[in-house]
This record gives sequence, C-alpha cells and structure tokens, in this order.
Amino acid sequence: MATAKVKTLEDLFLDELKDMYNAENQLTRALPKMAKKATSDDLRNAIETHLEETQNQIERLEKVFKEIDQAAKGKTCQAMKGLIEEGTEIMEDTSEDMVRDAGIISASQKIEHYEIASYGTLVAFAKNLGYDKAAALLEETLEEEKKTDKLLTDLALSGINEDAQRGSEE
Ligand code: FE
Ligand code: FE
Ligand code: FE
Repeated sequence: MATAKVKTLEDLFLDELKDMYNAENQLTRALPKMAKKATSDDLRNAIETHLEETQNQIERLEKVFKEIDQAAKGKTCQAMKGLIEEGTEIMEDTSEDMVRDAGIISASQKIEHYEIASYGTLVAFAKNLGYDKAAALLEETLEEEKKTDKLLTDLALSGINEDAQRGSEE
C-alpha cells in the first residue's frame, strides 16, 4: 500500500488550498483571453472586473497560507485545466457573435461553480480546524464567486441568450 501523503484534515486543507492557489493563477491567464473574445461590452466588463477580483483572491490565499504558517505554493488543478480547455475550445468553435458570448458565459459559470464548491469546502475545513481568520478570508472569496455566477446568469437572461437564439434563426 502506498504511503498516504494526506493523512489529516489539516493536510487535506493545505492540499486543497494549493489546488485553488494554482486554479486562480491559471484563471489570471485565461480570463483576459475570454474578455478579448467577448462580443458584448457588458460581458467583457464583467470578465475584466472578475480578473481584478481574481488577482485579489490570489493575495487573499497568500494571507491564508500565512495564517497557517505555510509557504504559498500551488499544485496543478487538473479540473481548472480542463474547464479552461473547454472554454478555449468553445471560443475556437464559435464565430464572433452572441452565440460565442453564450458559450463564454456557459464556460465561465462552470468555472465559478467549481470555485464555489472548492471555497465552500475550504471555509468548512478552516472552521473545523479552528482557523477563524482564514475561514473569514475564504468566505470573502466565496461570496465574490457567488456574486460573479449570479451576474453571469443575469447577463445571459438579460438578452445574450435571446440574441444568440435570434442570430441562429436569421
Ligand atoms: Fe476565483
Ligand atoms: Fe482542483
Ligand atoms: Fe471566480
């Protein structure tokens, strides 16, 4: 039997922190490309705002590492790699219009949902481990991810999906 590297909840917490540290860093490289490909100004603005938030979230994660006396280090998040790859694929496969925007929103929401699940878990682990300050920091990020997901839903419902549908009928 292989020796387990992650033995305690503390180890698991650190492992998942590293995963998200890497995931957020991947996003700072991917979001500018998605913003550039967006047709709607509102969608581009939303992605650009979230890029700034993402940079803050990285700093927040660095504070969390500090809180638990660990070096800020990433570990490749395979899920985020895959989600970004799917986003890139959809952008390559669509032409520059509202259909592409609908695809960008879809890919972005899958990303936000992954982040919401991850930060939700991290907050719960931090609380369990008695890291109250870390939990509060992680909760701030969790709220930003939820807010972004909601904004993307609103954008889709406010016309991008309809425009995409109309475009297909022309
Ligand atoms: Fe994030
Ligand atoms: Fe991951
Ligand atoms: Fe996010």
